[in-house]
Amino acid sequence: MSSFHEPARDIPEAETSDVLIAGGGPAGIMAAIAAARRGVRVRLIEAHGALGGIWTTGCLPHIIELDKGGLLAELVGRLEEAGAGSRQAGHVPTDDAPCRCDYDVETFKVVLDKMAAEAGVAVRMYTRVSAAYRDAGGRIEAVVTDSKSGREAWRARVFIDCTGDGDLAAQGGCGFDIGQPGTGLCQPMSVMALLAGAGRFDEPPFSIREWGPNKDWILAELRRGGHEPSYSRPTLFLVRNGYMIMMANHEYGYRGPDAQVLTDATIRGRAENLATVRALRSLGGRWQNLDLLAQSAQIGVRESRRIHGLYRVNRDDLVRGARFPDAVCRVSFCVDIHALDPARNMGIDSSGVTVKPYDIPLRALIARDAPNLMMAGRCISGDFFAHASYRVTGDAAALGEAAGLAAAAAVRRGVDPCAVPFSDIAQDLPCRREP
Ligand SMILES: Cc1cc2nc3c(=O)[nH]c(=O)nc-3n(C[C@H](O)[C@H](O)[C@H](O)COP(=O)(O)OP(=O)(O)OC[C@H]3O[C@@H](n4cnc5c(N)ncnc54)[C@H](O)[C@@H]3O)c2cc1C
Repeated sequence: MSSFHEPARDIPEAETSDVLIAGGGPAGIMAAIAAARRGVRVRLIEAHGALGGIWTTGCLPHIIELDKGGLLAELVGRLEEAGAGSRQAGHVPTDDAPCRCDYDVETFKVVLDKMAAEAGVAVRMYTRVSAAYRDAGGRIEAVVTDSKSGREAWRARVFIDCTGDGDLAAQGGCGFDIGQPGTGLCQPMSVMALLAGAGRFDEPPFSIREWGPNKDWILAELRRGGHEPSYSRPTLFLVRNGYMIMMANHEYGYRGPDAQVLTDATIRGRAENLATVRALRSLGGRWQNLDLLAQSAQIGVRESRRIHGLYRVNRDDLVRGARFPDAVCRVSFCVDIHALDPARNMGIDSSGVTVKPYDIPLRALIARDAPNLMMAGRCISGDFFAHASYRVTGDAAALGEAAGLAAAAAVRRGVDPCAVPFSDIAQDLPCRREP
């Protein structure tokens, strides 16, 4: 590839904060609120025009692994108060305890804006972190962003990468892994969609409670309408009467951040979702008024960079139900690997790993290569199998809260996150459980 020399130039320094968080998804918003409530100056930089990441711009109005307490419980309470969220039992059909929450996306955006403002988080949307610079000691000195305001530099004492893709860490030259060992393939991406005009779906075979059985029925309905989906477990969840989430598209072959690959996959995924809705509508009956209301502004990326940390959560930790003295989150979600190769399988599998609830240590949230950089959400330090379990939103939120607490404690002590005594944050960690 030929190269173009971009001349060096001085750019404005927008701000110096105590904690700078890149990415306002489930992990980033929780990290920002947790840190700001401990009295430090927090800047949150988000590429899109809404906080929430997959929860909002990703059109996935659905939280699982709800048992984390803390800010996640508070958020669900705020959604219920606003009449926009409802807890559901039965992520797996045998469960009775509420373990997932479905909600209205637009109210959710406003609730997140309010929670951030009340905590004193300084939010900048429509701004993308596009470079990160380290000093001679390897510490992140500043990040550079691109936006309608041009290029700007932002300094902070502690940085937290919550971009999902590990953009900040990678731009700063930190090491990372990506994809399946051997092939480097990542799990497929999906364009999510919200549907309106659904008929009655609260009775079998389409029950609000059940995830599994209705997928076979939906697949049969799609085939009856003449459509063969790219995902063999097409999924519809009822959020409230007449309003549903659809996840029926898979874009295979992703190997990591690449804007052209993301563009092409988005174009294909959107077209497939429209074809899916048309196929169902053609069946008439309960489907006759079905409409495609919205599609995700950002294609859903399940898997991307896993930044090297001081500890790497691994397959063995899941199997043995690992415990750590610096545990910040207990995860019970299964290994959920969406098909990597459509020629072999277009569904999901667990690769033979049975998860015993396991802990994630704070060390997996601290970058190995930059002492003042933390990660939270799906880009923490872990292997391919562990990532396929801890990446879900409830865990991402809990990891974000823990990172925010540790970053604030580091600022207060004037040290890097790895030097914070664990006792500084232990009592505030909501989902830490005794062994
Ligand atoms: C299609 C799909 C379906 C899923 N289904 C479920 C499910 O049913 N339940 C569940 O709990 N989980 C589900 N997951 C997993 C879960 O949504 C993610 O793993 C979760 O979003 C992780 O949260 P996060 O905060 O790490 O990342 P994200 O939600 O991806 O948030 C990252 C944020 O960072 C921003 N950002 C990215 N790059 C930059 C940058 N350079 N500068 C500034 N901002 C940036 C993004 O705009 C985004 O707001 C699903 C994921 C996908 C893709």
